[in-house]
Amino acid sequence: MKVIDHIKNAKDTLVSFEVLPPLKGKGIEALYNHLDPLMEFKPAFINVTYHRSEHVFKKNADGSFQKVVVRKRPGTESICAAIMNKYDVDTVPHLICGGFDINETEDALINLHYLGIDNVLVLRGDAAKNETSFEPEPRGHRYASELLQQVVDLNAGIYLEDDLKNTHKTNFCIGVAGYPEKHFEAPNMDTDMDYLKRKIDMGADYIITQMFFDNEKYYSFVKACRDAGITVPIIPGLKPIYTRKQLTVLPKTFHIDLPADLANEIAKCKSDEDVEKVGEEWLLAQSRDLKKNGVPVLHYYTLGRPHMVANVVREL
Ligand code: FAD
Repeated sequence: MKVIDHIKNAKDTLVSFEVLPPLKGKGIEALYNHLDPLMEFKPAFINVTYHRSEHVFKKNADGSFQKVVVRKRPGTESICAAIMNKYDVDTVPHLICGGFDINETEDALINLHYLGIDNVLVLRGDAAKNETSFEPEPRGHRYASELLQQVVDLNAGIYLEDDLKNTHKTNFCIGVAGYPEKHFEAPNMDTDMDYLKRKIDMGADYIITQMFFDNEKYYSFVKACRDAGITVPIIPGLKPIYTRKQLTVLPKTFHIDLPADLANEIAKCKSDEDVEKVGEEWLLAQSRDLKKNGVPVLHYYTLGRPHMVANVVREL
C-alpha cells in the first residue's frame, strides 16, 4: 500500500522506521535482528536508505595507488522486497541521483515495480567522498526534482525509449526530503522552500523531514510550508541520541542544531549509558508532543539503536 493511503486511512498517528542495508559481508540476518524487536509496533512502512558507490585509493605492494569502486551497503531494492516478504509490511526504498544515470534509474524503478514496491523516497544524495560538491553522473540527474520528474513520467507510462507503444504505467507514491533547519547548500530558507514547493507541484505526495531535536523547528517549518501553499503531509524524522560524540558529529554531518537543554544534559553525562537515558527521555518527550499535535506519522531513524526506539514507542 502507498504511504499516502496509510496516512489517509489512519485514525491516529502512525509509526514508521528507517534502516540501513547491512554492511557488505554481514548478511541480511543482521538486519532482521535489528528489525525483529520493532515489528510489534506494527509500523505503517519501513524505509531503506541508499548508499552510493565510493571511489577509494588502495595502495599496491609497489607503493603505487589503484582507484577502486567500493559499495559498502548494496542491495536497497532487494532488501525492501525481503522485508516485505518476511514481515508483510510496506517498504520505501530511497532512490538517489548520485551514482546513477537516467537509464540505470529507469531500470531500478522497473525492478521495484516488478517487485510490487509502490513507494519511493526521491533524493539527490550527497557529494561522493572524493568530491567537494555534488556532481551528477554523465546523463544523470543534478537535483531530486529531475529524478522526481522521471518517476512522474514513468507513472504516466513515459519511458526513456520514446518509440515504446502501449506502455505500462507504474504507480509510485513519491516522497521527498524537507529541511526544518534549511538544506546546508541553500542560500536561505525561502529559496529552499521554493525548491521544495517545486517538488510538490511536480507531483510529490508527501515530505519526510531531516532529523530535528527541537519540535518548534518542525512546527515553524510546517507553518512556512502551509504559507507557501504546500498541503501534503509532512512527516517528522526523529533520531535517538546515544553518544557524547554526537554532540559535534550530528551538527557537522546533518547541519542541524542541538538545543542547549539537551546539549547541557549530555555534556553532564559520565558514560554513553547515561547519554542513552537522556537521549531516550528527549526522544519520548519529542514524540509525545508531536503526537499530541496530530502529526501523521512518527518516522524514526533507528540506525544502531532499535531498542531505544522500541522503548519510546512502547511508552507512547
Ligand atoms: P534537492 O531537493 O535536489 O536539493 C538539494 C539542494 O539544491 C538544496 O539546497 C535545494 O535548495 C537546492 N535545489 C533544489 N532544486 C534546485 C534547482 N532546480 N536549482 C538550484 N538549486 C536547487 N542521502 C543518501 O545518499 N541516501 C539516503 O538514503 C538518504 N536518505 C535521506 C532521507 C531523508 C529523510 C533526508 C532528509 C535526507 C536523506 N539523504 C540521503 C540525504 C540527502 O540526499 C541530502 O540531504 C542531499 O544533500 C539533498 O537531497 P535532496 O533530495 O533534499 O536534494
